[in-house]
Amino acid sequence: MEPENKKEHFIESIIIKDIENNKNDGKVCTRFPPEPNGYLHIGHAKSICLNFNMANKFNGKCNLRFDDSNPAKEKQVYIDSIKSTVNWLGFEFGTPFFASDYFERLHDFAVELIKKGKAYVCSLSADDLRQYRGTLTEPGKDSPYRERSIEENLNLFTRMKNGEFDEGEHTLRAKIDMSSPNINLRDPIIYRVKKAFHPRTHDQWCIYPMYDFAHCLSDALEGITHSLCSLEFEDHRPLYDWTLDELETPCHPRQIEFARLNINYTVLSKRKLQRLVEENHVQGWDDPRLPTLEGIKRRGYTPESIRNFCDIIGVSKKESRIDMTILENCLRDDLNEKAPRVMAVLRPLKVTIENYPDDKTEALTAKNHPQKEEMGTRTITFSRQIYVEQDDFMEDPPKKFFRLGPGREVRLRYAYLVTCQKVIKDESGNVTELICTYDPETKGGNAPDGRKVKGTIHWVNANDCIDAEVRLYDRLFKDENPEQDKQDFIENLNPHSLEALESCKLEKSLINAAPETAYQFERLGYFCLDSKNADKKNPVFNRTVSLRDVWAKRSKK
Ligand code: ATP
Ligand code: MG
Repeated sequence: MEPENKKEHFIESIIIKDIENNKNDGKVCTRFPPEPNGYLHIGHAKSICLNFNMANKFNGKCNLRFDDSNPAKEKQVYIDSIKSTVNWLGFEFGTPFFASDYFERLHDFAVELIKKGKAYVCSLSADDLRQYRGTLTEPGKDSPYRERSIEENLNLFTRMKNGEFDEGEHTLRAKIDMSSPNINLRDPIIYRVKKAFHPRTHDQWCIYPMYDFAHCLSDALEGITHSLCSLEFEDHRPLYDWTLDELETPCHPRQIEFARLNINYTVLSKRKLQRLVEENHVQGWDDPRLPTLEGIKRRGYTPESIRNFCDIIGVSKKESRIDMTILENCLRDDLNEKAPRVMAVLRPLKVTIENYPDDKTEALTAKNHPQKEEMGTRTITFSRQIYVEQDDFMEDPPKKFFRLGPGREVRLRYAYLVTCQKVIKDESGNVTELICTYDPETKGGNAPDGRKVKGTIHWVNANDCIDAEVRLYDRLFKDENPEQDKQDFIENLNPHSLEALESCKLEKSLINAAPETAYQFERLGYFCLDSKNADKKNPVFNRTVSLRDVWAKRSKK
């Protein structure tokens, strides 16, 4: 699928104009600034692709910067995961940056603001702060501490830094305008006391800058030219600009907002994903059903398909929900090109070819890709006992069922034409085995007499196949919008999002499968070895995506 929207998007247009006007000396520098308080999800991929693509397109640079100014929630495991995920998506970031590297300078900037009379230490309690802030319809009230002298403020701020106060006793606030219609400008807190261990600065600091203060200054210190963020930061832009206008910084980056990515049948928010994990609705952050990039990777998605998806959905200021099918089709397009074909039987039915010699094993040649000769061939084996899919047999089939049925002839992919002669059942009447005959003249699948056999089915050799578990995944939620009508999204979980088939039979060549590497199981879909269950004795394969979009059909009904 080609990106439909090859036209430049609005952010690109802004950048082009800035370059034409020689703004920032014609340079472009962007950044992706995650807070290391969780794992990245596909929504972040949109931001990553946007920031790196803009930098790459205009010979610029994109920094990976960890906005690690809230030590209470941040962890090294998240930092490590974020780094490897950005690399996996295919982007190079050099040495990552950390807001915590600027703590000293941010502190100095805060002192500068105090000295200018533009910041003060406020001693209101959290409750009072809230009261004084006002509401959307009512202006706020000045804090009784707003007119403290510069000396007093400097003294108190130093003592905050030295650890003399408890959390919540004092805060440092910017002195802007308590009656501003924008609540973010009503003397926002820029520093607070927090006695927490920081993953990088350890216990060096007990005051930490607030996001709004740290973010714009980190951007400026890094020489960012275009600070791209999602729409919820639009109301923060006046504070971003105020801070940079008040302080002597190397540059004044331009903040531009775009709409977040939302995808139907899933949720894209760290907080909600966390609930799914913590309440054990899924099995960990890399559960292949989750939209986390770790989950998506484990499921078998390719970075190319995600980058292509981000191209196709484009960038705009309008909020929307993207259909999951668009993402899946990007994946199918990519895997169709790349994935070697193999045969596997998910719900096995034993077949004995009664006229085939008992002790014979025959080597057959199978193509790795029907259209791509360059992908070569492999050897598969055939013997008297094989497995076919239970679904490929019907005892009383309708006319148009071109698979196996009593007396019917079918082509075994790459092997022979076989005819079903007898059906064996257990005491309860379940079909347990088929007795077939093969036509030795039809090796490769064609009858010399030219007789037409419509159906071709896949199979594996019972004598050398691999036993494996195959996990089939479906949508994680039942409804397109899991929070429709304000319902708790947990109520909307699809109870059938995971189906584990435990006695699948795979062709022998899959013994060499590498984790997270895609194969097409012919007629079934794309699958990969699960990275957490790659043990050769009990391998687990994940279905990455089905061959066709089964949901498109279901919703038309
Ligand atoms: P969440 O809302 O899931 O907790 P977040 O916004 O807190 O995510 P951050 O680590 O703050 O996550 O985000 C890093 C960057 O990724 C930010 O610039 C943010 O705008 C962007 N981002 C996060 N979610 C999305 C999304 N769904 N679509 C596009 N960009 C996103
Ligand atoms: Mg956020």
